[in-house]
Amino acid sequence: MLRLYTHSACMQHDPGPGHAERPARLQAVLQALDHDRHAALERAEAPLATREQLLRVHSAAHVDHILSSAPLEGIFQLDPDTFMSPGSVEAALRAAGAAVAAVDAVMAGDIQHAFCAVRPPGHHATRDQAMGFCLFNNIAVGAAHALAAHGLKRIAIADFDVHHGNGTQAIFEHEPRVLFISSHQSPLYPDSGREDERGVGNIVNATLSPGAGSYEFRELWEGLLLPRLNAFKPQLVLVSAGFDAHRSDPLADLKLGHEDYAWITERLVALAHTHASGRLVSTLEGGYELAALAASASAHVSALMD
Ligand SMILES: [Zn+2]
Repeated sequence: MLRLYTHSACMQHDPGPGHAERPARLQAVLQALDHDRHAALERAEAPLATREQLLRVHSAAHVDHILSSAPLEGIFQLDPDTFMSPGSVEAALRAAGAAVAAVDAVMAGDIQHAFCAVRPPGHHATRDQAMGFCLFNNIAVGAAHALAAHGLKRIAIADFDVHHGNGTQAIFEHEPRVLFISSHQSPLYPDSGREDERGVGNIVNATLSPGAGSYEFRELWEGLLLPRLNAFKPQLVLVSAGFDAHRSDPLADLKLGHEDYAWITERLVALAHTHASGRLVSTLEGGYELAALAASASAHVSALMD
């Protein structure tokens, strides 16, 4: 059973004309999920994250900065890539709140899998800083909630976005109850995620060279990353689902196709069923070419439904 968490407020975060992380991305994903194939998909509104939930992974100064920085009109710039509009605060609170609600639902056994179709994305946001289009770290807020509210001892975060999830890594690099596993292109923004960044043995980074495609991606996951995930025996599988390693994506140089996202999703679902009673929560990160994003997210969701 799969539930889709989303909210119309996530369309109201607008980083400005010409920005890659635009409202049309979410529109493309939701349109693709309206297809007959997904007719059985249950939908739920993403709630607002609470301050308490955000403070598990962010400093009070960062939370206050985001909550107070949305302009009354126009655009406010937080860093070279990251902007806020009047609708950004509600969008960011619902993007993080979706992960919390999805964790609660899989832990309650109401559903086995959840996909959070939200924006802004989250995996670059650190404890103290918005960056890389991300305001709050949605997947980290979900993981911290699973630790604090559900008392889990082993949570895996699998991040296959083409960029390194530096924020997620930084938040959890001293937290042995969270295993962070990332495949990403190197060199590429944000220039972190080397293999020798290992945290307390709970960080596994694997890099792909520009031009690498399906073969290299699958070899990396099959040979290194999935075995590490299996050995950890997670009680909950969280997924930072970025689709910007697609060959059509304008922000990076990998050559995946939408079928690769079905492939990795099937394996993460199998992992969740082996160790976590099927509990898997995925949240949308990157993906900037609309047709590729729609096809990839659709393949991801289809694999989550099967
Ligand atoms: Zn990305």
